[in-house]
Amino acid sequence: MPWLAKLRLRVFAVLVALTIGVIGVVGMLSVPVLPAVGVAIVAAAAVVNSMTAKLSAVTCAGCGASIAKMPAGTYGITCTKCGTINFPYRSGEQTPLLAAGSDDDSVDEDVNDA
Ligand SMILES: [Zn+2]
Repeated sequence: MPWLAKLRLRVFAVLVALTIGVIGVVGMLSVPVLPAVGVAIVAAAAVVNSMTAKLSAVTCAGCGASIAKMPAGTYGITCTKCGTINFPYRSGEQTPLLAAGSDDDSVDEDVNDA
């Protein structure tokens, strides 16, 4: 199972466990619902943030190793530990076009006018 899938499963398990814990605490101890839910949301945010902190750097989706300094090939960055080919760009970054044409768009406009 790839590292990213394991991470997703762990985060989901933590959130399910927190939900079951809140339901149990509210049901068994007669604790008011809103403070218990508030504490659970804060705990969920802290735990998920710490579990996914490694994702802010460029990491391999297959094993979680850092691939920030590895060179990117045509199809992406190949992890040296597990061989997974990773997309080398973070979300929001401008990706280079592999078959970029010229910046002069007037040629296309002239063809359509005829
Ligand atoms: Zn890897």
